[in-house]
Parts: sequence; C-alpha cells; structure tokens
Amino acid sequence: MTVEVRKDTIGNFIDGQWVESQDGETIESKNPSNVKESVGRVYLSTEKDALLATTAAKNAAKAWAKLSGNIRGEYLRKTADLLEQNLDSIACTMASEMGKTLLESKGETARGIAILRYYAAEGMRPIGQVIPSSEEGTILMTSRVPLGVVALITPWNFPVAIPIWKMAPALIYGNTVVLKPALETTVTAAKVMECFATIFPAGVVNMVSGDGAVVGQALCEDSNVKAISFTGSNAVGRAIAANAVARGVKFQLEMGGKNPVIVTEHADIELAAELTVSGSMKSTGQKCTATSRAIVVADVYDVFRTKVIEKLETIKLGSPFENETYLGPVASEKQYKSVMKMIEKGKAEGATLVLGGKRSDQPDHQNGYFVEPTLFEHVTSDMSIAQDEIFGPVLTLLKVDSTEEAIAIANDVRYGLSASIFTTKIEEMMRFIQDIEVGMVRVNAESSGVELQAPFGGLKESSSYSREQGQAAIEFFTSIKTITMKA
Ligand code: NAD
Repeated sequence: MTVEVRKDTIGNFIDGQWVESQDGETIESKNPSNVKESVGRVYLSTEKDALLATTAAKNAAKAWAKLSGNIRGEYLRKTADLLEQNLDSIACTMASEMGKTLLESKGETARGIAILRYYAAEGMRPIGQVIPSSEEGTILMTSRVPLGVVALITPWNFPVAIPIWKMAPALIYGNTVVLKPALETTVTAAKVMECFATIFPAGVVNMVSGDGAVVGQALCEDSNVKAISFTGSNAVGRAIAANAVARGVKFQLEMGGKNPVIVTEHADIELAAELTVSGSMKSTGQKCTATSRAIVVADVYDVFRTKVIEKLETIKLGSPFENETYLGPVASEKQYKSVMKMIEKGKAEGATLVLGGKRSDQPDHQNGYFVEPTLFEHVTSDMSIAQDEIFGPVLTLLKVDSTEEAIAIANDVRYGLSASIFTTKIEEMMRFIQDIEVGMVRVNAESSGVELQAPFGGLKESSSYSREQGQAAIEFFTSIKTITMKA
C-alpha cells in the first residue's frame, strides 16, 4: 500500500485527521539543491493548534495505556511494514527537502523501520522486578507505567530516524505523543506521520508543524504535556530544561557535539583517514556525531594529512539524487550562512585553509547551498573552529606530541557526545576508553554510526545525561510504581 500525503498545504495531524491550522500562515519548504524548487507548503501553526493536539493526545491516553504491550507492538510492526512499502518515496522527499544523498536517505529510512521493529518486540519484555519482601506473605514488586502525553521536538538533520526513535519507545511503553518536527523538514515528517496515521487509533499520534519558538514553546508550556523529549541545539535545549524544571515535568535533551578522532603512531593510517573523511563529510557533516576534529600525533601527521587530502579531493559534491554524489548541499540558507561564518572565523583566527572553504562555483550548483569539502590545519584548541559545533563539511587538523596530549585536547571542549581513537595498541585503547569524556566511545570506528539497540547520548553539554535508543529508552518514557501486596 502506498500512502499519499496531501498535495496541497500539509496540515497538522490531530485526533486522527489531517487538519488545517486554526489561524497559522503557510510557508514553502524549499529544496536546498535548488531553492527555486518547492518541496511543499506547510503551516506555521499557532498555540491553538498545539493545544488541540495535546488535548487529543490526552483524551486518547487512557485507552492506549490499557492495551497490552503485545498489542501496542502490533501497531508498531504494521507501521514498520507500511514505511517499508513507502521507503523510496520517503527517502526521495528527504533528499529533496534537506539535501541528504538518496543513498543515505534510504539508509536512514531503513533504520527508522528497524527501530520500530526493535521496539515492537519490547512490548513483550519485562517491565518490572519482583523484590524479596522482609515481611511474610507479601509480594513486593515494581511496574513501569506510562507518563501520559509526551511532546517530541526534533531537528532537521535526521528527519525520519529521530522522530521514529522517539515515537517508537514512547508508544510501546503506553504514552501518546505530539510530534513537533523541524520546520525545515516538515514535508518529510508528514510522510512518516502518514504511515502512523494509517495504522494508529485517533489521538495516539499527533503532529503539529511550525516555528520552535511558537509551537515548540507552546508544547513545552502545556499542562497536558507530562514529558518532553528534545533533540537539537544547546541554546534551545537549555531553555526547554529550565522551563521543564519550573513546571516539574520530565525532560530529555540530546544536543550538539564537537567530536574528535585521535590518530596515534600505532594507527592503521589508511583506515583512520578513510573513516575520518566519511565521519566528517557524510550527511554533509550535519550529524551530531560527525567528526569535526582530527587530533593527530606528530610522527604520523604528514602521512595522515596526505591521505585525507587525497580522499577529500576525490569527493563528488552534487545532487543528492546522483549515484556518485558523496556530498550534497547543506540543508538550508540558515545552515549555509552559519557554516560560512565559521569558515571565516577559522581563517580570521589564524588556521590555514588547505581545501575548500567556499561555495561551489560549478554552474549547476548556483541555486543550491553547495559548500566545498573544507579542511583546516594549524588549528589550535582555543580557536572557535576547534571549540564550536560547525555542522557542515568542515574538518580541522590538530597536531600533538603524544596520545596523552591528544586525549587532553579531545576533552578540552564543552561537548561530550562521541569520540574515536585509531590505534592498534591495547594500552592506548584502554587509556582512551577510561579518560575520554564522551557518551559514545569508538575504537577504530567512525565517530558516528552507533547501533540502534545500544544506548545513545552524550556527557557534558551534549546531553541531559538521559539516554535514547535500545533498552535505555524505558528509563525516560516510563515511571516506576512500587507495589506492596498482601493477601
Ligand atoms: P534547533 O535547536 O534549532 O531546533 C530543534 C527543534 O527545536 C526544532 O523542531 C525547532 O523548531 C525546535 N525549537 C526551536 N526553538 C524552540 C523553543 N524555544 N522551544 C521549543 N522548541 C524549539 O536545532 P536544529 O538546528 O534543528 O538541529 C541541529 C542541532 O541538533 C545540532 O546542534 C545537532 O548537534 C543537534 N542534534 C543532536 C543530536 C543528538 O542526538 N545529540 C542528534 C541530531 C541533532
């Protein structure tokens, strides 16, 4: 079965219906490969729409929570099947709307499907413990219970996988949801939502499009909402946390990164160069776990640098729909300006630009936000390009004298999402695992690409220290009841 998203302005999905915004304006979603092309029109919804959605979710919450985990799992399984039938069309929309290559867009959609199937099975897994009671004839046990209505606020860089990795656990554990996707990727989110809409009972899943400062904020302040799961930038995440604390509701934040790879003199340099380039350039560097800093021990710096340059020079920048394309455009004008500003800062602060650093001048790129793969060297840890998230196709090289110094520099940032080391020496691996201040530690592996059944999240300012994905998700999306029972 192929689902159809409305061809006219894409509405909000509330209480089982696609509806127009109460009084919101509309805005065009533009293709970043060619801004003259529209991908669809979406609503800039208002607080009234947000309230309608949370009310629908609240009304549906009791009946949904009462269903067995097994039955809830069936809904997830059927949605996964429907997404699979629509995989190509969802991936094409994603590639058009935010410029991710078609190959990566298909991979991301497949991941979303796998996440749904993983959580469908969670409906059959234990949700509590039996604890030995000190009193005779007494059963002491715990049971995990849903929170109620959960608001899910998501970014544009994984417009399919992130909404699904929040929706799937929220739903399997008995919550109802309101999704507020990033405005930049609402058409893609609507395609995903259409699959949920076809399967789920009215009110259990809802979506409201719009500006974060309006709809996102309204959801965060809504008394129907009992928990907020947010992925996005640090500034927004911190404001959401402050508000959630004031209201006494649960919150979960996954935010930025400044992810390093360390290359020691014991590394397989070919492997290190290959995975540093893919880690920094895939998805146009717009992954929270993208490699942003290569910290390289002096003995192997030149050989590593040469290999990285060779590989970057072969990268094909172009349309996400062409098979040979490795690097698509950055996702939006806002993102383009922000990446170019960071490149200018790098130059101004004294780093040496080795490659790229500018908008592509190819004639067929003139209507898109195509930034050339960019490499800086002579970068020091105090520079903005070594401290702040760039979120674009920009890699920085930092030279150090030892592995100890490399780890110290890797930790010298406010973020702590993921980090890799390339080495064949077990002592260096062990030291890295112990001393690196990140949530996701990678040894001889790219800085991005953590498997879906494992906990995902960061340390320091990258996270609220809660974890998503895998079985860790139960911690956020449920609460514990402790039950003492005497006959
Ligand atoms: P963003 O913070 O601008 O927006 C994220 C979401 O929050 C969007 O839906 C937006 O509309 C909404 N929002 C904005 N202002 C709001 C407010 N005042 N109240 C409530 N919601 C509001 O981030 P972005 O530019 O969409 O995404 C890029 C960021 O996301 C990067 O920093 C990246 O590292 C991070 N990210 C983190 C992870 C992770 O798991 N750690 C994964 C992907 C992206």
